[in-house]
Amino acid sequence: RATLESGLEKSREGIFSKISRAVAGKSKVDEEVLDELEEILITADVGVDTTLRIIERIEARVARDKYLGTDELNAILRDEVTALLAEAPAATTSSDLGFLFEKDKAGNPFVLMVVGVNGVGKTTTIGKLAARLAAAGKTVYLGAADTFRAAAIDQLEVWAERAGARLIKQQMGADPASVAFDTLSAAKAAGADVAIIDTAGRLHNKVNLMNELTKIRNVMQKVVPEAPHEVMLVLDGSTGQNAFEQAKQFSAATQISSLAITKLDGTAKGGVVIGISEQFRIPVRYIGVGEGIDDLQVFDRERFVASLFG
Ligand code: GDP
Repeated sequence: RATLESGLEKSREGIFSKISRAVAGKSKVDEEVLDELEEILITADVGVDTTLRIIERIEARVARDKYLGTDELNAILRDEVTALLAEAPAATTSSDLGFLFEKDKAGNPFVLMVVGVNGVGKTTTIGKLAARLAAAGKTVYLGAADTFRAAAIDQLEVWAERAGARLIKQQMGADPASVAFDTLSAAKAAGADVAIIDTAGRLHNKVNLMNELTKIRNVMQKVVPEAPHEVMLVLDGSTGQNAFEQAKQFSAATQISSLAITKLDGTAKGGVVIGISEQFRIPVRYIGVGEGIDDLQVFDRERFVASLFG
């Protein structure tokens, strides 16, 4: 599984390598080293609040042990960041698939509703997931409830074919709740294992977003009372503060149960995963480190931290 390490290479360069350069020639962690560390973490989009929390933890270690050698800094950072991330609820990391979405107690399909703004990699993430679920023997239905753009429907169709999933769609401009209803009805009738609903996320109007998502939920519950079993927010990890802002707005509009953070391969700012998961206390379930099917990875806190901090 080399894709995680290679996918995070730029972030590693932006964090681990920079830290190494900052401490080169210095023997102990002092005020100056901590200032540089703070700047490196903020530049890597860890976020100001989370960065300050990390720095405080290191300062506490320095105060407690009286002396901290720079050779120990990376190990201590790994410990402290892992501990900080452990305070956020963990997504499942128990299996390689990590998404053994099972039918619910009533025998209904597991309903995954996916939200996020255009361009973040929502369709790609759904496609990768569907392909892996189908390969694991699951019957998967995809609902094209992002009816705002024709391209979104077409693109999902391509992924559905590639993945071996069934696509339920209507015309562009159709009522997303109606598409979600049709998808769940068809999935339930077919005894499918999983239904994944792709929704449009337009943030320009918070009240509209909230109303639309609530409506989709209510309508889906007419078919599957416990739907959605999970609401996953997809964020583009290369967009830094925008990703934080989207996490904020979507969590205000609806209950988000998990995160998928994409495009980490294209950025040195992978620290965004640490900041967002720490700040919003929403488990990161997947990270995207490329465009291929295997590049959607189950998020593993320890491996992730080890990849960034050496
Ligand atoms: P949507 O508008 O949110 O549905 O976004 P798309 O799924 O269409 O993705 C937008 C672009 O990002 C596409 O070109 C994808 O191939 C690309 N993309 C998605 N996830 C990743 C990723 O993890 N890494 C890279 N490098 N590109 C990605």
